[in-house]
Amino acid sequence: MAVTAAVTRREPASHVLAIRDLNVAFRTDAGPVRVLRDVSVDIPRGAIVGIVGESGSGKSTLALTILGLLPGNAIVSSGSIGFGGHDLLGLSLAELQALRGTRISMVFQDPMTSLNPVRSVGAQMLDIQYRAEQSNARKRAIAANALKMVGMPDAERQLARYPHEFSGGMRQRIAIAMSLLQKPELLIADEPTTALDVTMEAQILHLLRELRTEINGSILFISHNLGAVAELCDSVVVLYAGEVIEQGPVGDIFARPLHPYTKALLECDPARIAVATRSLPTIKGDVPSLIDVPGGCIFASRCPVALPRCGSEHPESIQRSPSHSARCHLLSPSGGR
Ligand code: SF4
Repeated sequence: MAVTAAVTRREPASHVLAIRDLNVAFRTDAGPVRVLRDVSVDIPRGAIVGIVGESGSGKSTLALTILGLLPGNAIVSSGSIGFGGHDLLGLSLAELQALRGTRISMVFQDPMTSLNPVRSVGAQMLDIQYRAEQSNARKRAIAANALKMVGMPDAERQLARYPHEFSGGMRQRIAIAMSLLQKPELLIADEPTTALDVTMEAQILHLLRELRTEINGSILFISHNLGAVAELCDSVVVLYAGEVIEQGPVGDIFARPLHPYTKALLECDPARIAVATRSLPTIKGDVPSLIDVPGGCIFASRCPVALPRCGSEHPESIQRSPSHSARCHLLSPSGGR
């Protein structure tokens, strides 16, 4: 990952994370793919912030940028990520590694990506605590307690078992328990319920909500599942083709969305369709190329209410209330004229 021109900026004391004007691209043979453009997101202390958007909107790239886990062809051309009084983009690899797993943890969609199939759960949970100057017996007790926190029955005995001996839902509980061992200030959960059935999904959402209180930390919850976001999060950031097009309190986003894309996304949510139908609605058109990013509104080619100026003028983010904003010309004082 190449990092250039990172601006040093500290997050306000009320926020655990403050992302400002972040720009990330991937080098390809066809040219740089600008996957995140001028992204600014705050995560208040103790809050659960949801990031929603279609595949390719940049949700997972944002998580990987925070963690310093971008692939080698990534270029972070500008911006800052304030955490713990530091700009994460300016930290060395060793400093980032010291933060990962201690103050910032991650839960992935597939728990097997974070579990080693040939080591017992207990051995892996001891490995995570390698920095702690405690006896192995004490570390095992802490590991068993973390499994109890995520609702694992007979926790001590489960430490001797291997990941393949658990169901998908139980493996995700183990992954969450591992991520919480160090009581992180920030937990990033990237589609943690996508591979689970509805019952297990409900249990994991309930668990995350309880754990927020238990560890007194903040959660960045990345999902394309609007129902899960509505149930779990305090506020929502809507990403479209690498841009934040709307953000605000969860109640406002779901009850009074401002941006035509957010409205379309909600209309396509199967959980909100009241009348039985054989075909689910979709948002017409395709996401534009992120190599030749259009100069106007990024949603213009698919927007059902686009104005003549939308194809050429990039809309500013307009604040509708202190905490609710969206990027659309229709919200400007001139009403888009
Ligand atoms: Fe639609 Fe124009 Fe608003 Fe973009 S700026 S969402 S194209 S109305």
